[in-house]
Amino acid sequence: MFLTLGLVRGRGAGGASTDPTGTGSIIDRGGSRMRSWRDQAKCRGLDPEIFFPDPEIEEDADEAIAICMECRVQEACLENAIARREKDGVWGGATVKERRRIIRRRRRSA
Ligand code: SF4
Repeated sequence: MFLTLGLVRGRGAGGASTDPTGTGSIIDRGGSRMRSWRDQAKCRGLDPEIFFPDPEIEEDADEAIAICMECRVQEACLENAIARREKDGVWGGATVKERRRIIRRRRRSA
């Protein structure tokens, strides 16, 4: 899908733990730029429609979530979506509703 979500929608990365620069790149301890986490996306090359299910039908997200659960950059993807307040689609294995829940939980515990 990267085609995936970020590139299709023209958005950059922002997962704080893996992407401090906001460029979508993973920086190693020495500061050299490594492959973008997007390059490691499990959804790369897949039909983006899979990741934009009908939000009213929970099971519609099952296929996307299953793919995300096997994705090695799931955490970075989820944090990016949360940071950007993505309003639709499955990112990092979480639907819009699930991301809202995560945000509310974090606010309560902050
Ligand atoms: S977690 Fe899901 S949406 Fe994010 S990069 Fe991986 S497969 Fe794609």
